[in-house]
Amino acid sequence: MGRYTHAVCRLCRREGMKLYLKGEKCYTEKCPVSSPDRRPAPPGMHGASRRKLSEFGVRLREKQKLRRIYGIHETQFKTYFQRAAKAKGVTGTRLLQLLETRLDNVVYRLGLATSRKEARQIVAHGHVAVDGRRVRAPSYQTRPGQRVTASDPAHPHPRMKELAEAAAAGRRPPSWLEVDPARLEARVLALPAREEIDVPVQEQLVVEYYSR
Ligand code: SF4
Repeated sequence: MGRYTHAVCRLCRREGMKLYLKGEKCYTEKCPVSSPDRRPAPPGMHGASRRKLSEFGVRLREKQKLRRIYGIHETQFKTYFQRAAKAKGVTGTRLLQLLETRLDNVVYRLGLATSRKEARQIVAHGHVAVDGRRVRAPSYQTRPGQRVTASDPAHPHPRMKELAEAAAAGRRPPSWLEVDPARLEARVLALPAREEIDVPVQEQLVVEYYSR
């Protein structure tokens, strides 16, 4: 399946909210969703004149929003849903936990990348190790108790050094992650609870989308 190569800001305009896909630009006035003199309307010739969404449309948009926030293709996203549906517990929460504990997202949550796309690149280029072994798969599922470090501690990626700087500046990762700045390493403490996952999505609508 191909990569999405078009302008990613279109995706935010389509969902009518900031999805934070472009890193630092998302926090500036260049962001077309928050800037008053840009185009916040959905993309396309008839974007501004779209009608009210059907029930199906509302669920579809919620699913697309979640998928786009984490940058996951349709087929893989459906696989995540199937795994969540088979697991014990609330399907929506389990789905979010699976997405949140992907290695690229952990790198993003640790503040080592300004976007999940950049985090994916850091992992794919082999700069990250889990429990001492280099991992190049951004989709690698981390588990509680695992250590995330630079794959080459003698020559860490410049972003890995920011672990120490972020800790010195008082910036803390989410409570389910722990950072040891002296050793440039992080640890997954637990699966994140729903209230620790700050994605603006109603996951129940995503569950209903796949259960239709
Ligand atoms: Fe979305 Fe960031 Fe583009 Fe704003 S700048 S529209 S938040 S990707």
